[in-house]
Amino acid sequence: MAEDGTYDREQVYQEQYRRFMKMEVPPCTRCGSGTTASGQVGVIGITIRLAATCPKFKLIPNGPKPGEWFCNSCGRFFDVAYESREGGKT
Ligand SMILES: [Zn+2]
Repeated sequence: MAEDGTYDREQVYQEQYRRFMKMEVPPCTRCGSGTTASGQVGVIGITIRLAATCPKFKLIPNGPKPGEWFCNSCGRFFDVAYESREGGKT
């Protein structure tokens, strides 16, 4: 097998980028904004690059995640399943 680490990383990055850009993200449960992102944990090379380039990718250095999703408008994590289970408390 050809071991070209740089090429592999580039390919993985491209695949992940496409995956996140295609991902259906739920609107923010607090402000209703559609500019939300998937919350990801772990600062490694590829996640740093994705966080810098992909608007649907929100990176935090350490878990546990405060929520599955991150709202770019109010800057908070939220969790859709949690909110609906609570029965929409306000
Ligand atoms: Zn919001």
